[in-house]
Amino acid sequence: MDDNKLNDSNVKVAVRVRPMSRREKDLTAKCVVEMEGNQTILNPAIAVFAYDHCFWSMDESQKDKFAGQEVVFQCLGESLLDNAFMGYNACIFAYGQTGSGKSYTMMGSAEQPGLIPRLCSSLFSRTMREAGEGESFTVEVSYMEIYNEKVRDLLDPKGSRQTLRVREHNVLGPYVDGLSRLAVASYKDIESLMSEGNKSRTVASTNMNEESSRSHAVFNIILTHTLVDLQSGTSGEKVSKLSLVDLAGSERAAKTGAAGERLKEGSNINKSLSTLGLVISALADQGAGKNRSKFVPYRDSVLTWLLKDSLGGNSRTAMVATISPAADNYDETLSTLRYADRAK
Ligand code: ADP
Repeated sequence: MDDNKLNDSNVKVAVRVRPMSRREKDLTAKCVVEMEGNQTILNPAIAVFAYDHCFWSMDESQKDKFAGQEVVFQCLGESLLDNAFMGYNACIFAYGQTGSGKSYTMMGSAEQPGLIPRLCSSLFSRTMREAGEGESFTVEVSYMEIYNEKVRDLLDPKGSRQTLRVREHNVLGPYVDGLSRLAVASYKDIESLMSEGNKSRTVASTNMNEESSRSHAVFNIILTHTLVDLQSGTSGEKVSKLSLVDLAGSERAAKTGAAGERLKEGSNINKSLSTLGLVISALADQGAGKNRSKFVPYRDSVLTWLLKDSLGGNSRTAMVATISPAADNYDETLSTLRYADRAK
């Protein structure tokens, strides 16, 4: 990869509209979203929003504009991997209301794998292709949940549900004290760890979909590239981290009328999501050369504090804002489009 590519903005923002759900089809819901090139229009149009990518996944028969899982990966995933193999960190977020397609975009299904499986399989095939004489790659993963500003290990072999402390090392930056880091050799290993981890995500009601939308889940892939100088026997290491983040449903942030734990939960989700928006937007301004000294409020939420080393500097960030096409989600969709617009 040449240097010019790195000088591109390191923050990419994409919007993806999902197809109508069965329920929306049954109710003959009206489609209120239009996409033209890199523009998204929400009707009745109060504004036209422009993003780095607009992915139309509404209707597969519209071959000229339909963006399936492979297209999303090519547009967002490949350059993050290039960056990781150069020794830099990267981060991908999915932002949107529950049911808008965050998990579909990140994980997908067995038939239609999403960004995470595609990134992982591409990562493993590259480690094999690129490992020359005296070179080796190791891949490790960690998986945590941030719920109410508290961090829990989703891969703790002892299955403990205890809260872990976030600390900051003066050279290595913020880290979670005691978080498990497990070595993996294939995407299959990663898949089984992820599904184990998902089972221990915060459970507060019987509806799984409700569940996962309350916490942020951060899956880290740590790639270590070791080079040994065969003559002198000395070795060096390049370490990079890919953080894949499934955010809490954005509608939680707006919900009012809650009390007690739910109120605290809502305001914490709100704080993380709004801080994340501010951090990404400050970084995008820096990248565009608009305001290089702009203050980046990493420490205002646990999520952004922990992602600090995957967000600034030479790191690459991609955000996919997922939306529903249906008229009855107009307000949530508008708020997602605005959030993604501010993040540019
Ligand atoms: P979220 O994670 O935001 O709660 P999901 O990813 O679970 O939402 O999506 C809700 C439903 O819509 C799922 O049944 C999913 O398969 C479907 N879906 C979402 N996005 C797409 C898409 N781009 N193409 C096809 N189906 C989608």
